[in-house]
Order: sequence, then C-alpha cells, then structure tokens
Amino acid sequence: MEKPHKRTFEEDNENARRPARNAMLPYGRQWIDDRDCQAVARALLDDFITTGPKVAQFEQAIANYVGARFAVAFSSGTSALRGACQAAGIENDDEVITTPFTFVATANAVLHTGGTPVFADIDADTFNIDPDCIKRLVTPRTKAILPVDYAGRPVAHREIAEIAKRHELIVIEDAAHALGATYDGKHIGNIADMTMFSFHPVKPITTGEGGIITTNDEELYERLTRFRSHGITRLPEACDHYDGPWYYEMHSLGINARLTDFQAALGLSQMAKLDGFLSRRRAIAKAYQLAFSNMDTLMTPPDDDIARSGWHLYVIRLVPERLRADRAQIYDALRAENIGVNVHYIPVYTHPFYQKLGYPRGLCPVSETCYNTVLSLPLFPSMTDDDVQDVIFAVHKVFDHYKT
Ligand SMILES: *Cc1c(COP(=O)(O)O)cnc(C)c1O
Repeated sequence: MEKPHKRTFEEDNENARRPARNAMLPYGRQWIDDRDCQAVARALLDDFITTGPKVAQFEQAIANYVGARFAVAFSSGTSALRGACQAAGIENDDEVITTPFTFVATANAVLHTGGTPVFADIDADTFNIDPDCIKRLVTPRTKAILPVDYAGRPVAHREIAEIAKRHELIVIEDAAHALGATYDGKHIGNIADMTMFSFHPVKPITTGEGGIITTNDEELYERLTRFRSHGITRLPEACDHYDGPWYYEMHSLGINARLTDFQAALGLSQMAKLDGFLSRRRAIAKAYQLAFSNMDTLMTPPDDDIARSGWHLYVIRLVPERLRADRAQIYDALRAENIGVNVHYIPVYTHPFYQKLGYPRGLCPVSETCYNTVLSLPLFPSMTDDDVQDVIFAVHKVFDHYKT
C-alpha cells in the first residue's frame, strides 16, 4: 500500500501558500514629493552649489524646531558625530561611555578621534543605555557619554544628566532616530550638550546623505563649524596674523564634511512635512500596538508620555519559550511573506574589528540577548493602511504558525 502523503502546513491551507503581499515592503524608506523635487531643481540653478545660504536656512529651521541656539549641518550623520567628538576635545586615551546596541558609526566616531569607546549595557525594556551601567564605568579618563535614542525613544536624560554633572562629562546624544521626539515635553536636540540628527533616507527626514549637530554652546558651535571645513577660520578677529581679505588660518585639524546647498533645499522642503511624517509614524505604531497586544509569542515596544518616541523603528521582541522557531526562521518566514523585516542591531563590539581591539564577548549580556530576539517591522510615513494590514496579517500568520 502506498504510504499516505504527509501534508505540509502550506498544503493544508491554500491561502498560507500565498504571501501576505506580492511586492516586498521595505522596513523604511524616504518620502519625496514634487515640492521636494522642485526645491532641489531651483537650488541647482542658484549661484551656490556647495554650502551657501540654503545650508544656513536649513540649520536655522532645525535649530528653531528643536529650540536650540545653534545648528551645524554636515555631509552625514557619521561626520557630524565625528565633528562632535572632536569639538568635545576627545583625544588619545580619553574614554567615552556609549551603547553597543547601535549602528557602528556611533562608536567609530570615538575611535576616529583616538579615544576609547567603553560599552555600557542597555535596559532590557527600552533597549537604551542603562544609567546604572554608565555609573559603574566612569573613571578619571572618562570625558563624555554618547547615548543613542534607540528606535526614536529618548534616553533617560534625567539620570544621564546627573551622572554627567557629578563627573563633569560632556553628553553627545546620537539622535539619528529621534528628530521630533520629546522628553518631559522638551524637544530632543535641546537637552544634551550636542545632539546629532541624521538625514539618511530611512531617518525622520532626508537630504540623501546628511547630518546636523545642535547645541546651545557658542564655543562648541565654533569648533564644529571649523571642523566641517578643514579647521579653517576666515574671521579676522580669530586669526593670529590677519593679512588681508584673502587670508585664512588653519587652527585645528578638520575635514571637508560640508552639506551641499541643494541637499539643504531638500532638507528645508522635508522640514515642512516633518510633523505630518511624525503623526503618520505614531498612527502606524499605535495600530501595531493594538493588533499585537494580546499575542504571547512576542513583546511590543514600550510607549510612555515622558520619553515620547519619534517611532523611527517599530521593534518587537520574540518570546522564545512560546515559539518553536528561532529568530532566523521567523525572519525568513516574514520575508517570504514579502514583509521586509530587519534586525537592529548587531552589538557593536561583536564585529571582527572590535573583537581584534580586545572587547570580549559577553561584555554586555543584555545587549547580546536582545540582539537574538529583536525584529524591526516596516514603519515609514508613506506606508498605506493596506501595507499596515499586510504586516499585521503576516505577523499573526507566522507567529501563530510557530506558536508552541
Ligand atoms: C543612521 C545612523 C547613524 C549614521 O548616520 P548617517 O547619516 O547614515 O551617517 C549613526 N547612528 C545611528 C544610531 C544611526 O541610525
């Protein structure tokens, strides 16, 4: 007798064979419209192609929005962070306490100055740097704290400011995810000594590539401006030996990290849409929170009124005890449904380069555990309601299938 064919899950359910949607939905993407295109086209025909009046206007728009006195635009968020570390005076053997649960650019900015990143573990609920871990790592060589607003959720500013004040440390906030987020009613960008925002296409607004530092400190502002353009000053009063209108002097080691005027034109045009982008992100996050609240196979991200997230990412956490699949299988299954899930982040010090520098595995156990269970779902303002429903449908389908 022929052996009965054992039917698979897919065969049992014809619908299960079809992916939740036909085209891949990315986890994030820019939203560019005709106005943006026109603004860039107009700027291209102006006298200035590189840094000109539009860059100054864009800096003013960001400074006004977050309530800071100064803003300095850079060619990327990475070069902005690099400039901030230099402006903070970080140099050989200075220590900077930061989080491993971030993109490599955060810690790399410290290495570029010759300083040493010291990794503090994260809080298991917010995935943000844990102030108690920071406290344990302060030494006489510590110069700064470099926290990251993971997924757009502001860090524990009150606790971090206390530590910084007690030990006279500079706080440089990596707010690449957090333009528009607020802490205790105050905009991110007006709390730390320096705050970095990124304008990479998946971030809250975009200039293609680009970044900015906001600060209320005039001395830091001047150092940042100099760093962006080769460490050069043209101000007669700042020169040691002013020699005429052609004259400039180089006072510190800088780089060319300038934003172009046509990128700034895009940034200005995008700023007009930021609040709309943010409310759409919040609405999508809320729809996810509601749709997943009664699932015991996953944990939804925290949400509260003190640290109000800009919802750059929507990161769920798997509950391994309730699943008979690991993160890689769930990732593959959601990708097969054409849901472009992603993983943020691989703990920085586990990368081969950092391993060679001698950071041991197991250094930040919470970060390493969280890395194994996180999954970022698609979240960007131009997602349609149908896109959101596709994600919700696929998450239920996959997690219910693998439920124990
Ligand atoms: C995107 C990002 C950066 C780097 O910004 P770029 O503009 O891409 O150079 C730094 N830190 C974090 C947390 C980021 O997400």
